[in-house]
Amino acid sequence: MQFIETRGNDGRKPSSLAFSEAILSPSASFGGLYVPESLPDLGETFLSKHLSSHYKTLALDLLRSFEIDIEPEVLEEAVSRYDAFDDPANPVPTVQIEEDCFVSELYHGPTRAFKDMALQPFGYILGNLAEKRDEKYLIMAATSGDTGPATLETFKNQSNVKVACLYPDGGTSDVQKLQMVTEEAENLKVIGVKGNFDDTQHALKELLASEDFKAELAARNIKLSAANSVNFGRIIFQIVYHIHAYLEMVRAGKIAMGEKIYLVVPSGNFGNALGGYYAKKAGLPVEKILIASNINNILTDWITTGAYDITDRELILTESPAMDILKSSNIERVMFDKFGAQRTKELMDALSTEGKYQLTDEELASLQEDFSATFSSDEEGEAVIAKYAENGYIMDPHTAMCMKAYETLRDEKLPAVIYSTAEWTKFSTTVSKSLGHAVKDDKEALDLVREHANVTVPPMITGLFDKAVKHTIVVEKEAIKEEMLNFL
Ligand SMILES: *Cc1c(COP(=O)(O)O)cnc(C)c1O
Repeated sequence: MQFIETRGNDGRKPSSLAFSEAILSPSASFGGLYVPESLPDLGETFLSKHLSSHYKTLALDLLRSFEIDIEPEVLEEAVSRYDAFDDPANPVPTVQIEEDCFVSELYHGPTRAFKDMALQPFGYILGNLAEKRDEKYLIMAATSGDTGPATLETFKNQSNVKVACLYPDGGTSDVQKLQMVTEEAENLKVIGVKGNFDDTQHALKELLASEDFKAELAARNIKLSAANSVNFGRIIFQIVYHIHAYLEMVRAGKIAMGEKIYLVVPSGNFGNALGGYYAKKAGLPVEKILIASNINNILTDWITTGAYDITDRELILTESPAMDILKSSNIERVMFDKFGAQRTKELMDALSTEGKYQLTDEELASLQEDFSATFSSDEEGEAVIAKYAENGYIMDPHTAMCMKAYETLRDEKLPAVIYSTAEWTKFSTTVSKSLGHAVKDDKEALDLVREHANVTVPPMITGLFDKAVKHTIVVEKEAIKEEMLNFL
C-alpha cells in the first residue's frame, strides 16, 4: 500500500510513497500529512475471524491487511511490546460501568497513558528502520505531560534515535514531570522551559525552522523525524483498539456480531478519533463517533456548525490538559477523506492565513454522518469522577469528559464504548479534589485517593518518588538551542 498527501503534491516530493518513508519523514507537500491510498476491508469476515484472537494477533493481521513495507518479524517484535502491559493476556481490558456503557482502558502500559498504545510498537519500528538504514534520527517533542514520557520510554536506549523532550516548568503534574526527569539513557534529553506549554511549543517550532539549527543537524548527519500523531505510524496502531473494543463486547455477549455501537472519544489532536473513523470506514459496525472535549471546544464547534475559527480564541488551561488544544492536526485527514486534496488545501490555507474556515452545508452534513460532539467544564468532570467513585470506579479527568457525550448524544438506544486515555494516578490531585480532598502535591493525593477508594497505585508510579532525578536543566527559551547542541 502506498501513502498519499492530504494537500496534494508540490512536484518536489514523490506523489506517493511507502509506509517506511511516510513514518521516517512525516511532513508532506504544502504542510500536509500522509494518508493511506485506500483502506482494507475490516468488516464482518475479518471480525469473525478474530472473535477469539489475542490483541497481538488482531494487530498483526490488521497491519498485514495494510500491506506495509515492514517485515513480519519486525512487526511481531513491535507488538510484543504489549507483553509488558499489566495483563499480557489482555493488554486492553474492558470494564462495564452502566447497563450499556463500557470503558475500554487504554492506559495499562508503562507510562499509564494511552499514548503507549501506539508509541510502544511504533518506537520499535522506527528504531529498527533507522538502524537497518544506518541513519541517525532526532525526535523532538514539546509536551504538556503525556506525550513526553511515552516518547522517552519507547525510544530509550535505541542506538540510532535520539529524543529531546521540552516541557513547561511547572506546567505538568508532579508524576508527569518525574516520569520524564528520572528517565536514564544516553540517547534521551529532557529540558524544562520557563513558560507555559504554548511558549514551549512555540520555542520548539522556532528551533526546528531555524536554518542554522538545520545546518548543525546536517553537519552531524542527523535527520529529523516526529513522533506525534501527525505520524501515520502512530495512527495505524490506533485503529486496532477500536476493533478490539468491539470484539470484547461481542465476546462478553453484550452485542451480537454486526450490531452497531457508539464510540466515545476524549479528543485533542484527534488521533484517537481518527483511528475510530478509519475502523468505521473499513467496516466496523459503528453508529457514530461521539467527540468529547473540555471547554477548549473548537472540535464541538467544528462538528456542530462546520466553523473552525481560532481568531478570538485563547487556550484555556483545564484539568484535562492533554485535550487543551486549538489546532487539532488530525481532522485534516478526515477532511481529505471526505472532500479531497484540493478542498483540504484550500481550508487549511484559510486557517493559516485568516485563522478560520467554514464548511459548506453539504460538507457539514457529511461530517455529521460520522461524528457528533459536545464538551464539559472542569466542574462537570469533577462531578462525574465523584459519581463513579461512589460506584467503585475511579476515572481520570479526560475520561470523565466522555460521560456527557454518552448521556446526551446517542440518537439510537445502542451501547457505547468510552475510551479511558489515562490512569487516574497521573492526575491524582484533580481526582482527590473531586472526592472532597483538595491537596497540592501528587504524593499526598495518591495516598488520599488510595485510601478513600480502596484502589491500588502501580509500582511504576509509586517508584517515581524514590528514583534519582537525571535531568535538572530548566532554561529560558533562548537557551534551548545551546542545550540541544551540547546533547547532539
Ligand atoms: C493525548 C491524550 C488525549 C487526546 O488524544 P488525541 O488522540 O490527541 O485526540 C486525551 N487524553 C489523554 C490522557 C491524552 O494523553
